[in-house]
Amino acid sequence: MLLEITTTHEPAEDLGYLLHKHPGRVQTFPLAFGRAHVYYPECTASRCTAALLVDVDPISLMRGDRNARTLDQYVNDRPYVASSMLSVAIAQVFGTALGGTCKTRPEIAARDIPLIARLSVVPCGGGESLIRRLFEPLGYRVAATPIPLDSTFPQWGESGLFAVSLESTTRLSTLLTHLYVLVPVLDNEKHYWVGDDEVRKLLDHGEGWLASHPERDLIATRYLKYRRSLANEAIRRLREQDGESSEALDAETAEDASEARVERVRNLHEERHATIVSLLEANEATSVVDLGCGEGRLLRELLKRRQFSRIVGLDVSHRALAIAEDRLGLDRLPPTARARIELLHGSLLYRDRRIEDLDAAVLCEVIEHLDAERLATMERVVFEFSRPRLVLVSTPNREYNVMWESLSAGEFRHADHRFEWTREEFRAWADRICRTHAYTCEFTHIGLPAVSPEGHDVGAPTQLGVFRRDQ
Ligand code: SAH
Repeated sequence: MLLEITTTHEPAEDLGYLLHKHPGRVQTFPLAFGRAHVYYPECTASRCTAALLVDVDPISLMRGDRNARTLDQYVNDRPYVASSMLSVAIAQVFGTALGGTCKTRPEIAARDIPLIARLSVVPCGGGESLIRRLFEPLGYRVAATPIPLDSTFPQWGESGLFAVSLESTTRLSTLLTHLYVLVPVLDNEKHYWVGDDEVRKLLDHGEGWLASHPERDLIATRYLKYRRSLANEAIRRLREQDGESSEALDAETAEDASEARVERVRNLHEERHATIVSLLEANEATSVVDLGCGEGRLLRELLKRRQFSRIVGLDVSHRALAIAEDRLGLDRLPPTARARIELLHGSLLYRDRRIEDLDAAVLCEVIEHLDAERLATMERVVFEFSRPRLVLVSTPNREYNVMWESLSAGEFRHADHRFEWTREEFRAWADRICRTHAYTCEFTHIGLPAVSPEGHDVGAPTQLGVFRRDQ
């Protein structure tokens, strides 16, 4: 079975870094059921294709199975079609890319790039419409070509197999995650794997997109191969995620939250902070102020990385700072680490010289807590007086709110939010900042973009502006 991934992002050779596989070499990896080969049929600056060829040894599938004595257990479609074995191969061979990490090109791993995935043979009893129902809501342009049973005998009809191509501008990790979950869903055969943690795997890989997918229940049921109790458990947890996520996204108090809710909050926070950390690293910031640092979660991530020699957290809330101090264990830190970090009580609404000579400033889910007239003051404090060469601003994308059933129309995700912006509104604000203060801004997002049940592109849950000072 063959999976090919093409990008036209330039320089296209970056695909090699993202996949951690050198384009100049053919590499082979052992798998429990055969071998996987990775090679690049094309690699130029403008277009690069990586191929993952999974060579399944049907005999190895039989090992240890004392009941395996019939011919169809030896002669079957398993070596040729995309199935859960492809997912296993993706996880083993492209595990780092699947997880979204890339040390050498973190910025590209975090960015949407043009990608095409081609699966040579996909078994799909549900036909082309099922392929579309699974991938189109995730924003893919889908082409599915039926493969005849035998091209010399067209009267024999179709084989139930398709050559599939999926095209999207997205992160490589997002594409690999969707393939990891949905290929076994299309192939309705028994899973290759028989672990007892299928539900966890499904929820982990489905994080951020599966709960709101229109075919969520079908995906969970088929992924878990109709094991009803597992499927029920997964669907219940996905429903919880889907229904409660409004406050969960922004709630700072998790006391009253269920375990699933806490887990989800943590994942979203983590994803925001991971993106911010990679952007700071990629832009070689060594001194950073986290404005509105809250309870210090981002500060903790920064402290782990030696690149950041000066880390400052500023917040208006004494209580938040006390929690941050405790969480960071400031009084227990060794002197060298302690010297790198500082917590400041202060407000974004006053010019503050203590934050005026740093490389970068972060405002993670902070601006929406400020009234409009105060926002204007904050803009001057940050972009006129502090004026770091890099400012990262994240804020909710209001368009995405329709994906959460628990939010009524026009309601904000958090009671303390003064506004939530559409992508257009955020852009307009950012453009004005750039014109007034001589910055340029690039836009990216956090969480997976979605298409609403009505078929509208609503973007991702969080939007992020990367502001760079002009000189
Ligand atoms: N950045 C944190 C917390 C976001 S919650 C995170 O990513 O988890 C918003 C934070 O902004 C709160 O901690 C709140 O106390 C702080 N805040 C609100 N108004 C502020 C102001 N005027 N000056 C400084 N901090 C402020």
